[in-house]
Amino acid sequence: MSKTSKSISLPPKTRHQDQGLSIYDFGHDFLVRCPQCKRCAEVTIKGVNPLQPSAVRLVCGHCGYSKQVQQDVIQTTWRKGRYRMDYAIGGAYDWYFKTPLWLRTPCAGHELWANNADHLEFLEEYVRASIREDSANRLRAIRNSSLASRLPGWIKSAKNRDKLDQGLKKLRGLLKSTTRGPSRNPGQTPR
Ligand SMILES: [Zn+2]
Repeated sequence: MSKTSKSISLPPKTRHQDQGLSIYDFGHDFLVRCPQCKRCAEVTIKGVNPLQPSAVRLVCGHCGYSKQVQQDVIQTTWRKGRYRMDYAIGGAYDWYFKTPLWLRTPCAGHELWANNADHLEFLEEYVRASIREDSANRLRAIRNSSLASRLPGWIKSAKNRDKLDQGLKKLRGLLKSTTRGPSRNPGQTPR
């Protein structure tokens, strides 16, 4: 349950190479705040392409809350909401139910957030890298669609490095305190 559906290989520490990963590569799994008990729940998107999923589920291991959307409903919803897709993707909530993410914190006058552990790791490596390399994936570089190339300026800015480092530590702490079920650290409530 805690595993993401894809394994993503990241470049070595302190050296960030843009491998052309996009936000869609981190779009199969979202840690969210349970609508019912406000603890950490998970939204899982089934299917190879998260934009064309076969099913989407939100499950809370604490209170048992769950909801699921099937393919036919998803397709209808996405057709209707097509022009809002860019708005939905890239905010501090999951792409389907719009549930606020678990990994989010105020940072440098903005909000720093991550969909899941892999996404957080990507951001950590990017921000802490001493050398940032341009995309090796020319196609994505040309289209400017890699996540690294599209990160907002305040994340890329060197002057925010310390604040970002603190923000990322906060997110890492939230991730560590994440409990997916009542058997682990019951009663622990971040923030
Ligand atoms: Zn719950």
